[in-house]
Amino acid sequence: MKEKDLEKVVSVMKIAKKVFVITGAGISAESGIPVFRGSEGLWKNHDPMQLATPEAFEKDPVLVWQWYLWRRSLVARANPNAAHKVLSRWEKTYPGFLIATQNVDRLHHRAGNEKVVEIHGNIWEVRCTKTGRVFSPEEVDITEENLPPKSPEGGLFRPNVVWFGEILPPEPLDEISAFLSQEPPDICFVIGTSALFYYIQSWAHVVKMHGGLLVEINPDETPLSARADICLRAPAATALTRINELCS
Ligand code: NAD
Repeated sequence: MKEKDLEKVVSVMKIAKKVFVITGAGISAESGIPVFRGSEGLWKNHDPMQLATPEAFEKDPVLVWQWYLWRRSLVARANPNAAHKVLSRWEKTYPGFLIATQNVDRLHHRAGNEKVVEIHGNIWEVRCTKTGRVFSPEEVDITEENLPPKSPEGGLFRPNVVWFGEILPPEPLDEISAFLSQEPPDICFVIGTSALFYYIQSWAHVVKMHGGLLVEINPDETPLSARADICLRAPAATALTRINELCS
């Protein structure tokens, strides 16, 4: 991370009223939850990118559920890391604040954030494939013994997450549009995401168009990097901790 870049970010954060944060799997990597893309993202020789699809579930719901039960066990053992904790402090500091997360692990909530929009759902809820009704984890207990889990409404239960190739539900998108269309954010952080989805690019574009500073935090380059005002090439916990220290 270049000092000059950090100084620029901190100068905006010191006067910012509204902060927008987009997070992806990379922010939870330091909590021990593997990202999808890359060599760390393999599970029993299955590529997660091939398992997180409606086609995979249709072909082999037991295999997909086994993978989700494994992911649930990782998430249950994981704790919010320093990056999540900094964001929870910022929610209390800035009058305008929102996290749009692609993560399904709920670690932002567990760190204390309430202003979080989960655009890809979360790993604990399930949904009936026949009626679309969503059930909470308190209502449905899924174990290795009852796979594939059958819904009382006639279908199977599937995780209530958005898989590759599926359309995003409108409610979270509306919430983000409303946030962006009121007073524009002074700054937008895009943290730990390969930024391949068009909506990430488009939110980042909206912030820039209105004069907000676009900051990417990711050890690697992404398709967004060329449009970012500042790229901090560091793990999320390192970068956010440093910015937070310099702001206080
Ligand atoms: P991705 O796997 O495509 O990309 C992860 C990104 O994080 C990469 O660009 C990588 O360079 C970066 N990264 C790795 N370690 C980092 C660190 N310590 N700090 C900062 N950045 C780091 O993830 P994505 O873009 O979020 O898209 C994958 C999809 O998979 C999402 O839809 C998401 O719902 C799902 N997913 C969620 C979780 C989770 O909830 N924790 C985990 C894996 C995948």
